[in-house]
Amino acid sequence: MPLMTSQQYVESLAKMKRNIWFQGEKIEDPISHPMLIPSRKCLEETYNMALMPEYEDLLTATSHLTGRRINRFNHIHQNREDLNKKVKLQRLMGQRTGSCFQRCVIMDMANAFYSTTYEIDEKYGTEYFERFKQYITYCQEEDLIVAGALTDVKGSRGSKIGSDEQDKDLYVHVVERRPDGVVVNGAKAHLTGITNAHDVVVLPTQAMTPGQEDYTIAFTLPLDTPGITMIVGRQSCDTRKLEPGADIDLGNANYGGIEALTVFDHVFVPNENIFLNGETEFAGMLVERFAGYHRNSYGGCKSGVGDVVIGAASLIAQYNGTEKASHVKDKLVEMTQLNEQLYCAGIASSAEGWQTKAGNYMVDLLLANVCKLNVTRYPYEIIRLMEDIAGGIMVTAPSEADLKSGEIGHYVEKYLVGCGVKAEERLRCLRLCENLALGTAAVGYRTESMHGAGSPQAQKVMITRQGNFERKKALAKRIAGIRG
Ligand code: SF4
Ligand code: FE
Repeated sequence: MPLMTSQQYVESLAKMKRNIWFQGEKIEDPISHPMLIPSRKCLEETYNMALMPEYEDLLTATSHLTGRRINRFNHIHQNREDLNKKVKLQRLMGQRTGSCFQRCVIMDMANAFYSTTYEIDEKYGTEYFERFKQYITYCQEEDLIVAGALTDVKGSRGSKIGSDEQDKDLYVHVVERRPDGVVVNGAKAHLTGITNAHDVVVLPTQAMTPGQEDYTIAFTLPLDTPGITMIVGRQSCDTRKLEPGADIDLGNANYGGIEALTVFDHVFVPNENIFLNGETEFAGMLVERFAGYHRNSYGGCKSGVGDVVIGAASLIAQYNGTEKASHVKDKLVEMTQLNEQLYCAGIASSAEGWQTKAGNYMVDLLLANVCKLNVTRYPYEIIRLMEDIAGGIMVTAPSEADLKSGEIGHYVEKYLVGCGVKAEERLRCLRLCENLALGTAAVGYRTESMHGAGSPQAQKVMITRQGNFERKKALAKRIAGIRG
């Protein structure tokens, strides 16, 4: 059945014996652990909304492989309209969750693998394309969540690659080759949503050169494969989730993203799960295409969360009684302008998409990189303006326990009262602002805006490559009447 309910999704996860750690302890029951639930709730929404008629057009698509209705997060884009819908879907989900909702990586990776494996086969007569088609068909039919693993932990960042490292495990690589598959070692960092996924797809972290064949490996595995360990990253204010009855202080009690450092300790990968194996010249194409799709994605998801930030700023202005002040109105307009610019670049890079040799559609790489470079800047300004509007009380307000205290609660009620609302409403809104700016959502909004889908320098390198300065010089020469 290609569309699971969220309950079936949770049941399918519960059957897996995964090795997940938080604060030095193994999580014995990942389904009921409060650290993991908000992340899963985001993913559950991708199932719930796919079954709601009002969201069907964005949340689902018709598979070109089976002709069946599938979740769009597992779709291979067939035209520019699909690329547009991808960004619209991401904005919608950002608005719905106020968080990184974590399911986009497979959509972006799958489309990169689809076109790249086709071109590898064309050159080498390999069978990666058929293999990958079979895998993505399986993901579509089973409605799986698949995490993506790109970033190697690295040691001497930038100065050494793969086999040049003293500790070779700082890059995921093949340590043993067998007739039926390979054994890999290493670790990948920042793996979004992996603790609530069924499978992981692993690819090289960057372009590779001849001699780096063992580091040029891409494959998929179920996340309960022996030898895989997930270590959940700390987030600011994260252990508020562990407080009994925590609600108001969380700011966003239902949703949140999670990342994990994921270790592959002598993990066996069968041949049928391998999509790249030593073809060094294609590692760059795979990474560049995945990064292009994911940089386009940020125009959707970050503008969606930005809508929540603007909503929270607008609401707290109302509760603080400053809503009519002209400087507050001006700040809200500025936040909106910046946020819509992020979306514009996302949509533009979709609208200028092109068909690959394999038949699926790729976003415009220059515009997608400009989109992501904007994302490394504007959310910081949007958050700065929200903090300005919210006031210092955003970080000094008393806790939910104080509000509910039989002894001092009446003080909090009286002195935190809002303009036309009770202290509780004002506190809820302030905590949402705090969560977006400094709490768990900041991981998926602010800092992720900087480093997710590649740090700013990576976009500058691509913009340099895609900017076509020679053509622009020729335009200028022609107009200036310069010959030669
Ligand atoms: Fe999706 Fe955005 Fe999260 Fe990436 S950062 S997984 S594009 S929501
Ligand atoms: Fe991300």
